[in-house]
Amino acid sequence: MSGKNAHVVIVAGAGPAGMAVAGSLAKAGHEVIILNRDIKFGGLAEYGIFPAKLKLRGGLKKQYWDMLEQPNIHYLGNVSIGNGKDLTVEELRGLGASAVVFSIGAQGTKAIGVEGDSAKGVYHAKDVVYHFNRLPGFGDRPFEMGKHVAVIGVGDVMVDIAHWLIRYKKVERVTAIARRGPVERKYNPKEIRMVCANMDLEGITAEFARIKDRLAAVGQNADEVLKGLTDEFTKCEPKVSETKMGFKFLASPKRILVDANNRMRGLEMEENKLEPKGEDTAAVGLKQYYEFPCDSVVFAVGDKVDETVGLPYKNGVYVTCPNKTGNDPDDSLFQAYDEASGKIVEGVFLAGWARKASEGLVGVAKRDGDWCAEVVSRYLSGRTAGSQAKTVLDKLHTLLKDRKSRPVDVKGLRVLEAAEKAHKGASDCIGEFKFATNEEMLDVIERGKA
Ligand SMILES: Cc1cc2nc3c(=O)[nH]c(=O)nc-3n(C[C@H](O)[C@H](O)[C@H](O)COP(=O)(O)OP(=O)(O)OC[C@H]3O[C@@H](n4cnc5c(N)ncnc54)[C@H](O)[C@@H]3O)c2cc1C
Repeated sequence: MSGKNAHVVIVAGAGPAGMAVAGSLAKAGHEVIILNRDIKFGGLAEYGIFPAKLKLRGGLKKQYWDMLEQPNIHYLGNVSIGNGKDLTVEELRGLGASAVVFSIGAQGTKAIGVEGDSAKGVYHAKDVVYHFNRLPGFGDRPFEMGKHVAVIGVGDVMVDIAHWLIRYKKVERVTAIARRGPVERKYNPKEIRMVCANMDLEGITAEFARIKDRLAAVGQNADEVLKGLTDEFTKCEPKVSETKMGFKFLASPKRILVDANNRMRGLEMEENKLEPKGEDTAAVGLKQYYEFPCDSVVFAVGDKVDETVGLPYKNGVYVTCPNKTGNDPDDSLFQAYDEASGKIVEGVFLAGWARKASEGLVGVAKRDGDWCAEVVSRYLSGRTAGSQAKTVLDKLHTLLKDRKSRPVDVKGLRVLEAAEKAHKGASDCIGEFKFATNEEMLDVIERGKA
């Protein structure tokens, strides 16, 4: 496509979803401007996926570099959208692009909502993950984990956190804590291979004996479930520490217990039982409480979107249009919607974890981006193209200059990559050197381009 049918689309957020939207729309001949909060592209593919997954990370990185080399994709990193940020949503919409896609992920943190959660030693999983992946702002922050760490949640993120604690922090004990039972565990059996060499089988067997009757009450046979869980401990990665990992099931944290210095010393837990809920089960508190000693706790219970961005927001998600169109994929699912006026926010779309927080792996985010691009293409096909890419980019650069923002283009990224590769600094668990702060990166980029 060229000429009058080529539209300019702005994609905010360069994670797997945004990169998919950009790639598809660029392939269709549109001009795409990508604006990303982080200097580097990739989102959680760069700052979330466990560092040791070199093949997955390397493959995605290569794919994204190739995409950014296309002449109709214009990348600017270090540009945050939101109130009080580099640009507001309204300023972005006013730049003259035909559509704006928000693929900014789920950057909000769910309130822990447990008394005492401001104590030292209480962490959100995303912050810990950003820390060990060296996202500026998190990489050089101290995370004091102590000897015994409780991780709340039994999904893949819990496994990644446990992996880091076992392999790199070499703590004494990690306990994954689940509101429900072992049958309702959420992690992928393949992921558990990263940590299964450190499983405390005796402790796990004792835990099953402790909850046996409560499992039987909902028709679950503890011996069979234990066998199913431990049978997955195959092809374990070689053991590199003496950390012991275990589980605590049917337990909800109620209160953070602290010492005189507001440093965590344990959790107050409530015992739960299971009750059938349709095909599934629900945890029901038994009002029986006990103390669980631990030095730190990581809440790995999913994220929510950032409500301060300025997009219509309700109950942890950005609001999408309730009126189905019948198209496949359905346009309404990707269109931002203003409930106050009862209208879609014209030309504003959502994709990936910004649309469905914490849902699925990279493949799911990519597919969501592809679907969103289909919906945007449909939207554009009925319209005459507006401003040219150069006009939109000129306006954008003027605004960013006014704000004293320091955007980073692909040329700058290349300078940064070369500098990081050439650096002799420590690489520790991430297996590569990364500058810890935006300032250092910007300094290298601006000197390299001068
Ligand atoms: C700990 C963890 C481990 C994971 N491990 C795996 C794995 O091993 N394999 C796998 O396939 N998947 C894994 N995933 C899932 C995968 O990372 C996600 O599915 C995917 O990254 C979601 O893509 P996204 O583009 O929607 O959001 P994100 O990846 O979060 O990207 C969002 C992008 O938006 C930018 N942004 C944020 N706010 C703004 C703003 N206000 N303005 C402008 N830009 C903004 C960010 O800089 C970022 O680049 C993991 C996820 C987590 C949390």
